[in-house]
Amino acid sequence: MIVLGIEGTAHTLGIGIVTDSRKILANVRKMYKPTKGGIHPREAANHHAQNFASAIKEAFEIANISYDDIDLVAFSQGPGLGPCLRTVATGARAIAQYLGVPLVGVNHAVAHLEVIDLFYSEVKDPVYLYVSGGNTQVISYLRHKYRVFGETVDIGIGNALDKLAREMGYSFPGGPVIEKLAEKGRKYIPLPYIVRGMDVSFSGLLTAAIKAYKSGERAEDVAYSFQETAFSALVEVTERALAYLDKNEVCLAGWVARNRRLREMIEAMARDRNIKYYTPPDEACVDNGVMIAWTGLKMYKYASIETPLEESGIKQNWRVDEVNVLWR
Ligand code: AMP
Ligand code: MG
Repeated sequence: MIVLGIEGTAHTLGIGIVTDSRKILANVRKMYKPTKGGIHPREAANHHAQNFASAIKEAFEIANISYDDIDLVAFSQGPGLGPCLRTVATGARAIAQYLGVPLVGVNHAVAHLEVIDLFYSEVKDPVYLYVSGGNTQVISYLRHKYRVFGETVDIGIGNALDKLAREMGYSFPGGPVIEKLAEKGRKYIPLPYIVRGMDVSFSGLLTAAIKAYKSGERAEDVAYSFQETAFSALVEVTERALAYLDKNEVCLAGWVARNRRLREMIEAMARDRNIKYYTPPDEACVDNGVMIAWTGLKMYKYASIETPLEESGIKQNWRVDEVNVLWR
């Protein structure tokens, strides 16, 4: 079985082609980069529309297959930015209809989790720390749902990093900039560390970090202190979930999972608890079509899930715990 996966919830248009024998035939990504400030939804959607045809063509050339070889089209149905979702859904519907193959709408967050098992088939029942722009959640599977055990009560960790970077004069994505700056941090500036039970909060931390920067603290020290504080809070709630749920695998997912310091901290915690730690390769952490293809493949193959045209409308606020995980 060969599946075409199309991602386009926000900044990245991703085209992935995956087989049911776990082969990645193509992983093409076209990223919209705002000239300044954050992501403008309409501009990002235009970027996806303009690059759609060429990205599809490129993916099929890399995969070295013909359009007729595709058995299923999967697309990111939500959550995400409305204009981006609509653009990608329109493209996906058109391709599925043209090829006469089934269409399946995939939840983007679920795909970030499901893709881990494409690389590590041995992973059985982990606690996931899902860290991205808008989302920051501690998740685990129970009775056909990905349940959220803890999450941010205000902004996502990625958005917080982006906002801090923007205050320092850098444009999107800010996470990698903060990571680089933090490597040169020498002084820890005390910042508010906010954990409430299983939940975290970053808005007070962000405000305090911006204030420290504006009062003349070095960007490197602010970045370092921000990362140490925010990531410690994330590791704390993840570890608590592992302890309560008595699970012995931990997975880091989402684009922020590329952060080496966060990986180091999660890995150290896993080592202390003597449990296994996994994170997908870099190119599968960032938004991509492979994760959509792989999730769509599992939904269709193991649970016969299809999305009829009349149900293929976008779901802007589709939460991870609303999905019926019938394929596990
Ligand atoms: P996503 O919503 O999964 O696309 O994740 C986007 C977020 O990941 C943005 O807020 C980026 O700034 C952030 N990000 C990307 N690379 C890194 C990194 N190396 N460290 C921290 N955050 C990152
Ligand atoms: Mg994402």
